[in-house]
Amino acid sequence: MGKVTGFLEFERLEEGYEPVPARVKNWKEFVITLAEDQAKVQGARCMDCGTPFCSSGCPVNNIIPDFNDLVYRGDWQSALEVLQQTNNFPEFTGRVCPAPCEAACTLNVNDDPVGIKSIEHAIIDRGWMEGWVTPQPPRSKTGKKVAVVGSGPAGLAAAQQLARAGHAVTVFEKNSRIGGLLRYGIPDFKMEKTHIDRRIAQMQAEGVVFRTGVLVGAWPADGPGSKVTNDASQTIAAERLMADFDAVLLSGGSEVSRDLPVPGRDLDGVHFAMEFLPQQNKVVAGDKVKGQIKATGKHVIVIGGGDTGSDCVGTSNRHGAASVTQFELMPMPPDEENKPLTWPYWPTKLRTSSSHEEGCQREFAIATKELVGGTGKDKGKVGALKTVHVEWQGGKMVEVPGTEKEYKADLVLLAMGFTAPVAGVLEAFGVERDARGNARAHTEAQGGYRTNVGKVFAAGDMRRGQSLVVWAIREGRQAARAVDEYLMGASTLPR
Ligand SMILES: Cc1cc2nc3c(=O)[nH]c(=O)nc-3n(C[C@H](O)[C@H](O)[C@H](O)COP(=O)(O)OP(=O)(O)OC[C@H]3O[C@@H](n4cnc5c(N)ncnc54)[C@H](O)[C@@H]3O)c2cc1C
Ligand code: SF4
Repeated sequence: MGKVTGFLEFERLEEGYEPVPARVKNWKEFVITLAEDQAKVQGARCMDCGTPFCSSGCPVNNIIPDFNDLVYRGDWQSALEVLQQTNNFPEFTGRVCPAPCEAACTLNVNDDPVGIKSIEHAIIDRGWMEGWVTPQPPRSKTGKKVAVVGSGPAGLAAAQQLARAGHAVTVFEKNSRIGGLLRYGIPDFKMEKTHIDRRIAQMQAEGVVFRTGVLVGAWPADGPGSKVTNDASQTIAAERLMADFDAVLLSGGSEVSRDLPVPGRDLDGVHFAMEFLPQQNKVVAGDKVKGQIKATGKHVIVIGGGDTGSDCVGTSNRHGAASVTQFELMPMPPDEENKPLTWPYWPTKLRTSSSHEEGCQREFAIATKELVGGTGKDKGKVGALKTVHVEWQGGKMVEVPGTEKEYKADLVLLAMGFTAPVAGVLEAFGVERDARGNARAHTEAQGGYRTNVGKVFAAGDMRRGQSLVVWAIREGRQAARAVDEYLMGASTLPR
């Protein structure tokens, strides 16, 4: 344990942000990592309680009390070793994880939790800066070949674990760059893409082969699935992969966006968030995007109150939108959670993201009835939204009479979540879907992550549905162990 009385002496320290007027002028990250002495103070607050609820709250089960203590003592290299035992990519989670560990921290029962995420962020950034993060190639090769389909955090975590276990791993990715939603969903201002590039170089040195612009299986000709980013110039049949590899891991994500079936949906200026966001990330990466969807000078309405919606708000403000309004169907949650009722679980409370702070009007308990087209030269383009307030009675949503309203809108972004993996990929392998449309595979220690098709495994959003980066990393790691056990009869990879 760090300092016995640390939690009594020191307050929680938040990471700083660049001021709003400066940060909205560019696409760079704006979070200011804790300085060494600040991270030490944070580490000193950890009580090293007998049962580390934080570790069970963290989906990759980071050994949090140990790295807190090591940071407090100034042993950063050992802290990094502890962190790397459970998390392949702490630089991703240290930036974009919502930190369920902190909700579970014992101090959070009646005080502010330890700033665990900020400590993780500081450890891994220091590790890269000092050159402590190096390739870990296997001592010997197994002669087994594994194909990983999809290069999001689940596929990357699995590929790294499998390569370190000595297997020959090839990652297939339909887009022109590696990273999945880390690359094309999450904006650069939340996570710059050099963090992914550095990891790719490390993984290549560990033996992982990356093949980009290659679509595995089939692709839908129309429907919402056809609007998903797909830069592939080459297709590989599922049969080819089955013949060439000893095991296949499907980690293709859950990319089909939930649609809004209301009159006017076909008007120009109404787009899925995942049409809008990837274009901007490509532009930041130096690509030319013809006819880029821009929010500049427009009245933007973002429908959907989650992370994706928040990223649309931040991107629209950086484009220079005239106004940004975000709609959420659910009622406004309370400002504070009821801690005795919710701890150590993730509480429902009003969350204000850094993008909201940059300028956004938020409307709760509001439903969109219709998208209205403009007139004259604006015919065919969206011009307004008709809405109504809703309330929940006996678990059912009902409209509140007299609350109908019209909002001006030149750009409407649909950010209402994702429904399922794109049709065609699972079907090409003959993989069964579960009731929600994801790849069917359980996660028990015995036979986990295995689909109904002999040597085909599934992990990440493709298996569990739309989720978080940290859950994708967990699933990738656990699936790697399951694949290793299947190939070798036993595995020393951690679960
Ligand atoms: C806009 C946005 C913001 C988000 N923000 C956060 C956040 O702040 N924090 C957080 O924790 N989570 C966030 N998430 C969720 C998080 O990004 C995902 O849960 C996570 O990336 C899922 O990882 P994955 O590896 O399962 O799939 P993905 O990241 O979706 O990667 C799947 C990859 O598979 C590829 N692929 C699919 N089919 C094929 C095929 N047939 N052949 C070849 N390649 C294929 C896709 O092109 C893609 O690159 C966000 C999601 C979005 C959309
Ligand atoms: S990965 Fe997320 S939950 Fe786990 S320690 Fe880091 S911030 Fe907390």
